[in-house]
Amino acid sequence: MTFSSLGLSAPILKAVAEEGYETPSPIQSKAIPAVLEGRDVMAAAQTGTGKTAGFTLPILELLSRGTRVGANEVRTLILTPTRELAAQVGDNVLSYSRHLPLSSAVVYGGVKVNPQMMRMRRGADILVATPGRLLDLYNQHAIRFNKLEILVLDEADRMLDMGFIHDIKRILAILPKQRQTLMFSATFSDQIRTLAKGLVNDPVEISVSPRNTTAQTVTQWISPVDKKQKPALLAHLIKHHQWEQVLVFSRTKHGANKLSRYLDDKGITSAAIHGNKSQGARTKALADFKSGDVRVLVATDIAARGLDIDQLPQVVNFDLPNVAEDYVHRIGRTGRAGATGQAVSLICADEVELLSAIEQLIKQTLERKEVHGFTPVNELPETGYDPNRRPKKIKKPKQPKTEYQGGHRAGGNKPHKKPGSTGSSGRQTSPGAKQRSRKPRVSPVKAGTR
Ligand code: AMP
Repeated sequence: MTFSSLGLSAPILKAVAEEGYETPSPIQSKAIPAVLEGRDVMAAAQTGTGKTAGFTLPILELLSRGTRVGANEVRTLILTPTRELAAQVGDNVLSYSRHLPLSSAVVYGGVKVNPQMMRMRRGADILVATPGRLLDLYNQHAIRFNKLEILVLDEADRMLDMGFIHDIKRILAILPKQRQTLMFSATFSDQIRTLAKGLVNDPVEISVSPRNTTAQTVTQWISPVDKKQKPALLAHLIKHHQWEQVLVFSRTKHGANKLSRYLDDKGITSAAIHGNKSQGARTKALADFKSGDVRVLVATDIAARGLDIDQLPQVVNFDLPNVAEDYVHRIGRTGRAGATGQAVSLICADEVELLSAIEQLIKQTLERKEVHGFTPVNELPETGYDPNRRPKKIKKPKQPKTEYQGGHRAGGNKPHKKPGSTGSSGRQTSPGAKQRSRKPRVSPVKAGTR
C-alpha cells in the first residue's frame, strides 16, 4: 500500500514524502480511508504507531476541500491531555500542512493566555488544545465552535486518568452535534467505551495492536535489586552499557528530583521533568535531552505522557508504576515506528505484586538479569505470567492526578480565569523543535501567523 492509493492529494503527499515516510503504517492505512469517507472512528492505538498522521492527513484533505475559516472560528478541534502532546501534535499538523493554505494553532495552559486570544482572532482551520485552556478561551469568547466540522480526542484514556472527564463533558456540550468525531486511545477500558457511546456515531473500530500488549520491537528485562541500591545500579547500568539517551521513570516528583541530583553527582548529566516544573523548565529539559546535552531525563508518568522522542533507545523504570497499564504506556516511549528499544525495570522485593500484575497484563514473564555486585539482600520472590489467573486490579494511585493538576492548573488552565492571570512565560515553543532540526520546522505560534 502507498500513501497515494489512500486518496490524499498532491500537497499532502509531498509533505509526507518530505517527512521520509514511505509506506503508511497499519493505523494509517485503516484510519485514512475511514476519515475521508466522513465516518466516525474509534481507534485503539498507542503512541508510536503513527496515529497522529493517521488522523491529521485525512483531516487536512477534508479541510482543504471546504471553505476558509472566519474570525475566532475553528473547523477541527484536536484535544490532547498534556501540553507536550499538544505541542507535538501541533508540530505534526504544521509539517503535514506545509503545502496547503490551511492555518493551525496550539493552545495549552501554563503560558500566557493573551497571545493565544490574539491568535484566535484570525480563527484556525485546526486547533490543538488541552481541555482546561480551551474552556478558558471559550469562556472569554476567544473561540467559536459554530463552524466546527471535526473533533479528535487524542489519548482519551489518559484524559480520563488525569481527571479531565468534567472538562470533556463541558466541551462536548458546547460543540455542534453535527460533526465527525475521531477517538484515539491506547486502551479501551469500560470507562472509555461508556464515554464513546455519547460521542461517536456508528464508528469504524480500528485496533492496530492487541489490547494491552507492549510493542514488539522493545526488549524488556528486569533487574532485581534492593531499594537503596537502585540509584547506584542505575548509574552502573548507564555507564557500563554506555547508554547515551535514557528516559527514566520515577513514581514521584520528589524521587525524580533526588535521582536527577544523584546522577549529576555521578557525572551523568540529567534533568527532571514533572508537573511542579514550569512549562519553560519542562520544555528546556526535553529540548536538552533531545539534543543530547542531557543524557538522562527523569520523568513522572504524567509528565512523560506523549513525549515524542524519535527512536528512543532506552527506557528505565526506576520504580514500577502503581497501575499496570502505565507500564505499557511507559514502554511505548521506546522502540517506536519500527526502531528497536530496550526497557529495563529495577525491581525491589516490595514491588513483587506490581511486577506480577504487569506480567499478567502483558501476558509474558519478564526476563530477570541480576547485575554482579547488586544481588539483593531482600530477595525478589519468583513471579511469572499465568494464563489461568485473572488479572488483579491494583488500587489506583492518587499521586499522578494531583501532580498533574497541581502543575497544570496552577499554571492557569482553570476555566473562568481572568485574562493575563496565567503562567510565567508567554512563549509557546514546541518541545520537539530542537530535536527535529534535520527538517525545517516552525513553532506553533508561527503556525498561527500563516
Ligand atoms: P505517533 O504514533 O503519531 O506518535 O508517531 C510516531 C512516530 O512515527 C513519529 O515520530 C512519526 O513522525 C513517525 N511516523 C508516522 N507515520 C510514519 C510512517 N508512515 N512511516 C515512518 N514513520 C512514521
